[in-house]
Amino acid sequence: MTRTDCTHEPAVVSAVLLGQWPHGCDDALVAHALECDVCREVASIATLIHDDSERSRYEVHVPASGQVWWRAAVRARLDSTQAATRPMTLLHGITAAVAVGVMLAVIGAAWPMLVPVLERVWTTVAGYFPNADVASAVANGLRLSAMLGLIGAAILLLAPLALYFALSDD
Ligand SMILES: [Zn+2]
Repeated sequence: MTRTDCTHEPAVVSAVLLGQWPHGCDDALVAHALECDVCREVASIATLIHDDSERSRYEVHVPASGQVWWRAAVRARLDSTQAATRPMTLLHGITAAVAVGVMLAVIGAAWPMLVPVLERVWTTVAGYFPNADVASAVANGLRLSAMLGLIGAAILLLAPLALYFALSDD
């Protein structure tokens, strides 16, 4: 059965990580590692990891300071632009809600004034029809057409507004 740990293992690892293995550290430790299976294996693995770490430090390409500064400036400008447009987006939403409310209020206020005009138009149109049933059917049709026209106009006004505010977040 082989041993799985050794009391000199931490000393070997720290010597390798400090870059002192095998020539900068205690000779007794090196001599022990040549005889001890655990320390020899730990030293070889730690040396590989240390060498790989040193190599990757030299292979990393750090960008020039001017480039880093320029990127940071562009990033800061983008952040400030987004921060500045956030209240504008909120204002757009409030404006849209107010516009929809005003439009509904105008339609609600104008509806009682429109009803007598529409009634007069319907009675004028109904005068051309000798039969009362036909006249009432035409009047009902006109009333329905007027309501559908108003709803269609409201949708035609609201749809571009809704599309504008839905797409203006980007
Ligand atoms: Zn050992």
